[in-house]
Amino acid sequence: MAVSKCTRLNGPLIKQMLDSVDSVLFDCDGVIWRGDQAIPGAPDVINLLKKNGKKVFFVTNNSTKTRKMYADKLALMGFNAAEDEVFGTAYCSAMYLKHVSRLQGKVYLIGSNAMRQELEKVGIQQTGVGPDPISGVQIDWANVPLDPEVKAVVVGFDEHFSYMKLNRALQYLNNPDCLLVGTNTDTRLPLEGGKAVPGTGCILKAVETAAQRQAQTVGKPNHFMYDCVASQFGLDRTRCLMVGDRLDTDILLGSNCGLKTLLTLTGVSTVADAEAHQESGCPKRLGMVPDYYVESIAELLPALQG
Ligand SMILES: [Mg+2]
Repeated sequence: MAVSKCTRLNGPLIKQMLDSVDSVLFDCDGVIWRGDQAIPGAPDVINLLKKNGKKVFFVTNNSTKTRKMYADKLALMGFNAAEDEVFGTAYCSAMYLKHVSRLQGKVYLIGSNAMRQELEKVGIQQTGVGPDPISGVQIDWANVPLDPEVKAVVVGFDEHFSYMKLNRALQYLNNPDCLLVGTNTDTRLPLEGGKAVPGTGCILKAVETAAQRQAQTVGKPNHFMYDCVASQFGLDRTRCLMVGDRLDTDILLGSNCGLKTLLTLTGVSTVADAEAHQESGCPKRLGMVPDYYVESIAELLPALQG
């Protein structure tokens, strides 16, 4: 049965939709929490889904936390969640380098402590995190000492990103055999009150521009995030639901992987955004139209309690 896209999910349709899936993948920020505050009702939704026999996963582009850090944050907010249900880009990048790139060598890391820890956990050495001060003049910068064992530059969120880090990345990437991997391309991190700070996409663009080549990105909407979950838990894509607040990452990932998609309006994207994609008729933009939308995932509660 063909269902028209971007349908308001309510009434009996909620139960019908939930009955049609075994696994639910949730984005985190703007979906189950905003910053450090759980979305009201979200812990109950997650916990009841599990109680009703659904598999639940947390899939986030944010690279600043390890799986363990996410599991701790979830527990603190009242979510019943295990470390192996969390798929953040710090962890997924390490998986990508180990299992897809089969990297033999070290990583020059533009990223966080969490990324360092996830890389170390799978046995990948890296060059360290933190500030990289500038000294000398331009010709010195072009000849900065490089670690000959580095075979990949990996870019995630790095609050210490600087001109010298960009320069060092360029010097490594002058070697065409050195890989360039980015965690995600989100351009802004939304904050409360309509404020925002630059996201990893800005840092990655700077590195791509300097290196004059494109990175392989790991995060949503790239299907690798879903592949990570699916390969570890044997998911059936026809019985999976992706829930997110962003059309260009969460919903597009779901479309790219053939999952059912649900937009929640507690975060970044609006119904008007989705309708604009739908009306465009452009095949590329149609992937950003969700199957369903809700005001908040709390709207799933009655169907789960019934
Ligand atoms: Mg989000």
